[in-house]
Amino acid sequence: MPGNSKSLGKGRRPAAGASSPHERGEGEDVAIIGGGIIGICAAALLAEAGRGVTIFDRTGICEETSSGNAAAFAFSDVLPLAHKGMIRQLPKWLADPLGPLAIPPAYLPKLLPWLIRFWRAGAARHYEAGLAAQVGMMKLAEAEWMGLLDRSGTRPMLREDGSLELYESEAEFRASLPGWAARERFGIGFRHVEGEEMAGLQPGLAPRFVKGTFVPSWKTVADPKLLGKAVWAHAQKLGARFEHARAEHVGTDADGAVIALADGTTRRAKQVVIAAGAWSHLLARNFGDRIPLETERGYNTTLPVSAFDVKRQLIFSGHGFVITPLATGLRVGGAVELGGIERPPNFQRSKAMLEKAKRFLPGLDPSGGREWMGFRPSLPDSLPVIGQARVPNVFYAFGHGHLGLTQAAATGRLIRDLVLGQTPPLDLNPFRPQRF
Ligand SMILES: Cc1cc2nc3c(=O)[nH]c(=O)nc-3n(C[C@H](O)[C@H](O)[C@H](O)COP(=O)(O)OP(=O)(O)OC[C@H]3O[C@@H](n4cnc5c(N)ncnc54)[C@H](O)[C@@H]3O)c2cc1C
Repeated sequence: MPGNSKSLGKGRRPAAGASSPHERGEGEDVAIIGGGIIGICAAALLAEAGRGVTIFDRTGICEETSSGNAAAFAFSDVLPLAHKGMIRQLPKWLADPLGPLAIPPAYLPKLLPWLIRFWRAGAARHYEAGLAAQVGMMKLAEAEWMGLLDRSGTRPMLREDGSLELYESEAEFRASLPGWAARERFGIGFRHVEGEEMAGLQPGLAPRFVKGTFVPSWKTVADPKLLGKAVWAHAQKLGARFEHARAEHVGTDADGAVIALADGTTRRAKQVVIAAGAWSHLLARNFGDRIPLETERGYNTTLPVSAFDVKRQLIFSGHGFVITPLATGLRVGGAVELGGIERPPNFQRSKAMLEKAKRFLPGLDPSGGREWMGFRPSLPDSLPVIGQARVPNVFYAFGHGHLGLTQAAATGRLIRDLVLGQTPPLDLNPFRPQRF
């Protein structure tokens, strides 16, 4: 192991009047690799429980994928991605190189094993099990977020005005009905709308939309980056710390975890949480866990707030993108590009969605936007990995795909329970790292 080893928990002198575990030189013993929304929420929940936490991130707190997403607390979004309706859409989507789904041909051979697992996850038996697991996770997600928003003073960042999903034809509407029926089974409320009611929910829509579905319980946040940073400020007040560093390797020995950083130094911690988003599988390999994590790259453009008066999140499922009104702008984006973590962004995708948005909301001013790409960390069965590695004292919290913001506080709660050795409120079997 390279030189200069520093303990995160041992041998610190208590400072006079110190109030945090770190300052008192006690108990700062949990290292979290990754300062995205998952790492932030895990840090907050662990710090609230009195543990000393340090987040290691190569860029900063909430600076990567968690900073630019579509801001939805999508608690009713319980359907696994692999399902028959979706798989039927694939040929149409793949035919359009700038459409909702793209696979760069050169990446296909590498992606194939993941695609096969994805296909299998769509089989009825797996689909039902995934749906039930997701429903349980979403109930916890909502309860944990509401609690964390209150405790961190961030509740004013919540928008509770629902979402409106829009259909361009009766056929598209009918194709969506089995999905709504599945949600109904789990008590998720919604209302199909048309005509004046639909126009009232979003004035200025193009006449091409014949029907919609309004989900009143859908929530969004003022800005995902600002929310992440505010929750981090709450964790920091409780003693959590940040170190700007890239973890090259994580290992364990009899005393806990040893983290080798890119600058050649090492850090020790009693326990470590891998929450490194789309890069987490690279660190999991250190422990012999081979986890089929891929990335669904997504794109958007954030326009000035004045671009259009969007009343609530608008969802264009047939085109694979959404429009979200944020406190800081109007965000237009989505799409899935199964293209890995190396290749450069193709911002033609952001432009293609913006052009469509202009057609769907003819009064929209598309000028002055900022383009962005992020890496959704995705497992083929649409469920995250939350659990212990093959070795003790190492925990995984990654792979939340399209739902990382939504499920971050629940993941923080589950990780806190695992780290503390307490029984989590949810059966973690469907999320176990060794399920593949
Ligand atoms: C276009 C788009 C729209 C989305 N919309 C929504 C939405 O509306 N609602 C929702 O719930 N989810 C949404 N998502 C998904 C959500 O953004 C992700 O699931 C979530 O941000 C993942 O969070 P994370 O903390 O796991 O990863 P990240 O935010 O990627 O954080 C991981 C961090 O780990 C760091 N890291 C990686 N490797 C190392 C290393 N070796 N050493 C140190 N640091 C390391 C990275 O620097 C990064 O900061 C969307 C995603 C995209 C792309």
